[in-house]
Amino acid sequence: MTDILSARADAPVSQQRRILTAIPGPKSTELQKRRLASVPSGVGSALPVYVERAHGAIVVDVDGNQFIDLGSGIGVMTIGHTNAAVVAAATAQLAEFTHAMFTITPYENYVRVAELLAEHTPGAHAKKTMLINSGAEAVENAVKIARKHTGRNGVAVLDHAYHGRTNLTMAMTFKAMPYKSGFGPFASDVHHAPNSYPFRDGLSGPDAAARTISYLEKKVGASDLACLVVEPIQGEGGFVVPADGYLPALQEWCNANGIVFIADEIQSGMARTGAWFASEHFGIVPDMLLSAKGIAGGLPIAGVTGRAEIMDSPHAGGLGGTFGGNPVAAAAAVAVFDEIESRGLLAEGARIEGILKPGLLELKSRYDVIGDVRGIGAMLAIELVRPGTLDPNPAAVSAIATFAAQHGVIILTAGTLGNVLRFLPSLAISDELLREALEVLGDAFASL
Ligand SMILES: *Cc1c(COP(=O)(O)O)cnc(C)c1O
Repeated sequence: MTDILSARADAPVSQQRRILTAIPGPKSTELQKRRLASVPSGVGSALPVYVERAHGAIVVDVDGNQFIDLGSGIGVMTIGHTNAAVVAAATAQLAEFTHAMFTITPYENYVRVAELLAEHTPGAHAKKTMLINSGAEAVENAVKIARKHTGRNGVAVLDHAYHGRTNLTMAMTFKAMPYKSGFGPFASDVHHAPNSYPFRDGLSGPDAAARTISYLEKKVGASDLACLVVEPIQGEGGFVVPADGYLPALQEWCNANGIVFIADEIQSGMARTGAWFASEHFGIVPDMLLSAKGIAGGLPIAGVTGRAEIMDSPHAGGLGGTFGGNPVAAAAAVAVFDEIESRGLLAEGARIEGILKPGLLELKSRYDVIGDVRGIGAMLAIELVRPGTLDPNPAAVSAIATFAAQHGVIILTAGTLGNVLRFLPSLAISDELLREALEVLGDAFASL
């Protein structure tokens, strides 16, 4: 593998799993008490171990336990924790200036990130990018721009979608609990349509697309739709990979009907799947592409990249925000692009898939609670069912995730039905750590 860690000779964290205490340990338990008194319970934590340091694919907690991180903070630490180049770029920028407000006095790295996104997103057309702070803000701005461009109101999204937690993006997100319940009323003119979910619907891509399109044409009407927003691989919804031909058919329909086709690549983008953006695997060229999570090594920044003529439709001053494209985050993003490019990290997705997927398929052959193994590159998942049925098995998912955490492996859950285990390791993870994590996972299934 490419030695992503070698740049940091003083690597402060050995790339080893090590459990020294009960999980959570005594110091974490103490912090958790303070947190419960001061942080609202609506802000949950999947695993209440408090982080002290992290490097590469290892997270160290305050009790000295070391975890193999298969979650990467939900696919954010794609090139590894405390990557030396990212740390250096952000540190240098901290000492130069930390804020100027791009809409008052601009700076080069904002422009550089826009250039890099134009270069690395699908399609050779002229593109422009605006930068904001979070994924939800990217979705908000994409919808805003699409509406202004088309003069239409309707927003189409897919069943099982996740697009964020602001008022508009809650409306666009599918799952009520925990994301929406009691938080309405929601933004209007948002329409969910059936997606392609091969494990559950058994439909071919073209058939699933015909169903989606017919639903939207009947329920909303193509001429009232400003945009269709899709995750090429659905994230929170359960790493649902659409059937072949599904996304191209949706794109064709959008193009033919003047609907802005938007790919939400906030989770699937930035080398996560072994391509710069997952859209490439499906042969689609979105009119707009949204990036966030993995783009800046953990610093908050997000991008809306789109066809120049669409991005230029809002009037001067119509787009912006105080912190959007923050100089430190932008410097980190430039370093992330450079690391992926100069270290050839696009190859790491295939390496990780080549170890993890056969391991998961082997577990599937032994445990009939595993109904499906799916995903691309370093974005893989298994869906758990009651053996012999399609009935979801969320209890098994929590049991496995808990067992793994107790044994020093962080594994995230997902899925509208709560029955998916997802694997989002950083590209810096070694073959050895991946194999070790698979062993722990095997023990977890044996213990069910
Ligand atoms: C995480 C996520 C978002 C929201 O991003 P935030 O930064 O949490 O607001 C939107 N879309 C997808 C696909 C995501 O995974």
